[in-house]
Amino acid sequence: MENRLKSYGPGAPGRVVVLLGPPGSGKGTQGLYLAEILSVPVISTGEILRAECARETASGRALRQLLADGGLASDETVNRLVAARLSGGECGNGCVLDGYPRTVAQAAFLNDLLAELGFGEPMVLHLDVAAEELTRRLTGRRQCPACGHLYNVYFRPPRRSGVCDWDGEALVQRADDREEIVRQRLAIYEGTTKPVIDFYRAGDYRRVMAGQSEAEVREAIQEALLLPVAAG
Ligand SMILES: [Zn+2]
Repeated sequence: MENRLKSYGPGAPGRVVVLLGPPGSGKGTQGLYLAEILSVPVISTGEILRAECARETASGRALRQLLADGGLASDETVNRLVAARLSGGECGNGCVLDGYPRTVAQAAFLNDLLAELGFGEPMVLHLDVAAEELTRRLTGRRQCPACGHLYNVYFRPPRRSGVCDWDGEALVQRADDREEIVRQRLAIYEGTTKPVIDFYRAGDYRRVMAGQSEAEVREAIQEALLLPVAAG
């Protein structure tokens, strides 16, 4: 079997990695790590949309208004912005996509776009974490309003319950980290992402169990990159 790490290493023909993972899976941190191993940039939808909103063009102003009114960017808009970014020189060697594709329509568009740009099919890396673990990670988060230090009551508790180690301020929980909201966020994620995962399963799909420590997940990602490409 062919060792495929070469295909993703520096100097290799560009490959695009689609990184999938729920909120709380450590996707942001691991995406940066993955990009570093592969010597490619991370392209995140959040960053692309913020950049577009900052532009003084008709489409920039229209998107700003849409998002300010609580709307969501359409598939067409996101596809157009991602296509422009992927066509640029920055991604000539490939990239890690974070937050895209979010729908099956976007995934199908991406496949066509990559073929058009001369990339192979994307490698899909799925950071999977059991629902109970995710719930603990998210609902356990507490932050110090004074210094911004982050704690987790289950994994990184402060020395004295509910109080910042550094300045003694009372820790607070973000409104969207409350259990009821977390369960809603995860249900929404599950509902939108599952069809995208199903779309990719027949392709180069690799699952990494991400409910472990950051270092262990890094190791699992390295191992996943070494797996031979699935047939079919
Ligand atoms: Zn503090």
